[in-house]
Amino acid sequence: MAYNVNLTQTLKSLFGFDKFKGDQEAIIRNVLDGNDTFVLMPTGGGKSLCYQLPSLIMEGTAIVISPLIALMKNQVDVITNLSDVRGIAHYLNSSLNKSAIDQVKADIREGRTKLLYVAPESLTKEDNVGFLKSVKISFYAIDEAHCISEWGHDFRPEYRRIRPIINEIGAAPIIALTATATDKVRTDIKKNLAIIDANEFKSSFNRPNLYYEVRPKTKDVDKDIIKFIKLHQGKSGIIYCLSRKKVEELAAILKANDIKAAPYHAGLDSATRSQTQDDFLVEKIDVIVATIAFGMGIDKPDVRFVIHYDIPKSLEGYYQETGRAGRDGGEGLCITFYSNKDLQKLDKFMEGKPVAEQDIGRQLLQETAAYAESSVCRRKMLLHYFGENYDKENCDNCDNCIHPKRKIEAGKELVIV
Ligand code: ADP
Ligand code: MG
Repeated sequence: MAYNVNLTQTLKSLFGFDKFKGDQEAIIRNVLDGNDTFVLMPTGGGKSLCYQLPSLIMEGTAIVISPLIALMKNQVDVITNLSDVRGIAHYLNSSLNKSAIDQVKADIREGRTKLLYVAPESLTKEDNVGFLKSVKISFYAIDEAHCISEWGHDFRPEYRRIRPIINEIGAAPIIALTATATDKVRTDIKKNLAIIDANEFKSSFNRPNLYYEVRPKTKDVDKDIIKFIKLHQGKSGIIYCLSRKKVEELAAILKANDIKAAPYHAGLDSATRSQTQDDFLVEKIDVIVATIAFGMGIDKPDVRFVIHYDIPKSLEGYYQETGRAGRDGGEGLCITFYSNKDLQKLDKFMEGKPVAEQDIGRQLLQETAAYAESSVCRRKMLLHYFGENYDKENCDNCDNCIHPKRKIEAGKELVIV
């Protein structure tokens, strides 16, 4: 079926936005045309709209597969508030009881529901598969599609079962979306979802307002961090550490130094975690000290700094985590503390793991180390990692461009004259 609609008008009337961002319009046309679509767009680029808008126009229900229950509820609330149609968007996940599920299914059957968010583990449930077989599906959207790949920063094995389940429920066009753009991840996603011929839309991953710096990590690292935070008093920031123990320790040290800080990691109960998250959003807390459990879906536009206390496990992770700074386009300082000792520690962690996993882990780590030790423009290196060319000689917003003579090696500072 051809959908001849004025998309800009639809955007305005349904979402209240005046114009599309980046490739949104072309992507939406491609979905409306019934093609497979692959979207690579950095965080904050506006990926959700690429499936939300066409789902509201097309016949049938769009199935959106998304990994996070908290995010689903949020997105469903947004769509529900846009429309007078009760039940226009729903989600199916383990948080719903039987009667809520029955209501969702009734709304879908009656053709009211245009968007159904499903967690991958709910999608694979027999009951749901049986039910979805009887539904007219407009398309499938796979959000955070990098979860399919072991080369991504958030691999989820259940994501690899999506394609077989889609085949069982009934084929329809697929749109896969991710902010992860490395070649390996990209190839994995396409192969696994069997959308090799999908039309691909890739935006630039450059974040010009982010400042990248790598500092040697010495025994004074805590003092360095306190000094940095005091220089940016009252600003919001995130500090990433690799272990829960370090998160707790550092948060305590910061608090003892009159900094409004709180720890966040998966070992804390969910009430504490969501309280901390809320306190950060309303600025009762300035600094969150966290493991990488903190971040996906955090949409605080004015995070002014992201510090890596430990070297991240991959450049991909580094890019995603630093990407949480400056989402409003304002200042975003990304400081990483690097020491060779940490590198060795991480390498050692891998010893107990299966060989294939070790190989992947070591390669990712080597790439991060090369980045940290390099004297080349950080932006250029990062973009290169995503297969993107950065032509400018000097980005004017990273340590290597601003202080071109400094080189960091194994925890000490070398000045090359
Ligand atoms: P992503 O999933 O790519 O990280 P989101 O879909 O969460 O990004 O969108 C990021 C923000 O951009 C949201 O606040 C969204 O409302 C806004 N947005 C999306 N499209 C537009 C647009 N065309 N005009 C203005 N704001 C937009
Ligand atoms: Mg998103």
